[in-house]
Amino acid sequence: MVTPEEMVENQLKARNIHDPKVLQAMEEVDRALFVPEDLQHKAYEDRPLPIGRDQTISQPYIVAYMAEQLQLKKTDRVLEVGTGCGYNAAVLSRLARHVFSIEIIAWLADLAVENLQKTGFENITTRYGDGYSGWVEEAPFDAIILTAAPPTIPKPLKDQLKIGGRILAPVGRINQQLLLLHKTGPDSYEEKRLLPVRFVPMTGKADKGGKYGR
Ligand code: SAM
Repeated sequence: MVTPEEMVENQLKARNIHDPKVLQAMEEVDRALFVPEDLQHKAYEDRPLPIGRDQTISQPYIVAYMAEQLQLKKTDRVLEVGTGCGYNAAVLSRLARHVFSIEIIAWLADLAVENLQKTGFENITTRYGDGYSGWVEEAPFDAIILTAAPPTIPKPLKDQLKIGGRILAPVGRINQQLLLLHKTGPDSYEEKRLLPVRFVPMTGKADKGGKYGR
């Protein structure tokens, strides 16, 4: 069985995850609390795992890589689209002031609440709904992260980002790229293509084709 310490050494440090705060968060947040009971012995393996309803908890390396790329500060308010089992939100909550997370599948939204209660972390708020429209009441955010892939980044999410903020998202249907956008002005962004990835597709409004999106 892989231990959290082995995961950090062999999967994260060995692949150039350097940020000590990210490494500490990855070691501290107990991934076993977020995977189904029969998979708990595989919680720290180097791969995504099924969490129910055809969805997955991402590979630890991807969670750490995305957290590092977001360069969060302890004062940051973060929006996550795609709560899943709540694991990524828990990791981000160790690096930021508050994490708001939206999940479109009600069963998973409930599961995340249960899982997050076990951690005792208090700076995470979740809700059930379509993350396409963001979370207007809590906007603007310092950082926004998507853990499901839309064809293009939804405009409401870009609008809910502070100037100077970052959006990190897997984008595309067949050939997905992880994109990092820095908001430089009310409607201007610097875009970096980070790496090819494979995430579950973003459903809801993002799925309705070219009418929505950028
Ligand atoms: N962050 C998750 C974790 O730590 O378990 C992994 C999430 S999984 C790769 C992607 C999640 O995005 C799924 O739970 C899926 O139901 C959700 N999702 C897909 N489209 C969505 C949408 N429009 N709004 C909110 N959540 C969405």
